[in-house]
Amino acid sequence: MRRVEIRGIVRNISPLRIGNRDVVDFTSITKVQLLKNSRGIPFIPGSSWKGVFRSTGEVIARKKGLKVCTGLTKETCVDKIPDFQELIKKDIEKAKKVFWEKTCLNCKVFGAPSILSSVYFFDSYPSNYKIGVKTIIAISRENGAVSKGALATAEYVEPNSTFSFLLLGENMPNYAIGYILSIMKEIHYGYSQVGGYKSRGFGFVKFDKLQMRITHYSEKSGSNSSLSPLDEFDLKADYTQDELSGDEFFKKNSSLLEVFNNARIQYPM
Ligand SMILES: [Zn+2]
Repeated sequence: MRRVEIRGIVRNISPLRIGNRDVVDFTSITKVQLLKNSRGIPFIPGSSWKGVFRSTGEVIARKKGLKVCTGLTKETCVDKIPDFQELIKKDIEKAKKVFWEKTCLNCKVFGAPSILSSVYFFDSYPSNYKIGVKTIIAISRENGAVSKGALATAEYVEPNSTFSFLLLGENMPNYAIGYILSIMKEIHYGYSQVGGYKSRGFGFVKFDKLQMRITHYSEKSGSNSSLSPLDEFDLKADYTQDELSGDEFFKKNSSLLEVFNNARIQYPM
């Protein structure tokens, strides 16, 4: 019924590091590489964005007094519903109802086992970037101890590199769009970091050239139409389609942020 598209660019204002845990460079064991595509270009995978959005959302939702799960494997709300898999096979309508009643905001927005996410994050590729190398002290994964004299070099993306950003949301009520915007705002203003070495001050990013489009498939619904009873008390969620800087974007779309702030969400858990 409704598609939300938010696109723009992301600029890192501190070093940024999305590591590659799976690939070990055997030619240089002491070099800790960045995640790169097959052509050697570093990128931020959609799965990283999803992780950052979900964990940032956790903090926002808890501040609002909502209970949300961690989303970790086997710890989601869906994992706690007995025989949910069976129920999906037997009675899909009942399964939908149970899902709505028994899962938290994050499971609804970001998905859970057997449940598609409402938002989809695309991989972010750089339009301009520089790779830097830092010497770090290697810490043993087993016991956290500093290995004797083990210095390694870690690659990172230099500040002021720019990446694409694109997310798509399907059938999200206004408060859920407001929730996504609240999360982006936290990231934009430095309350949440992206990637590794956060304690070293890595991973602060700013959004720019942001543009939001909300498309409606059904004739009846206008831009302010409701997809949820929670939206009914306040449908005046005006938004702009203009391409704006991050600062301007969050200011101009503040009514959607308000819809989320005011939504009386009460998902039992
Ligand atoms: Zn949950």
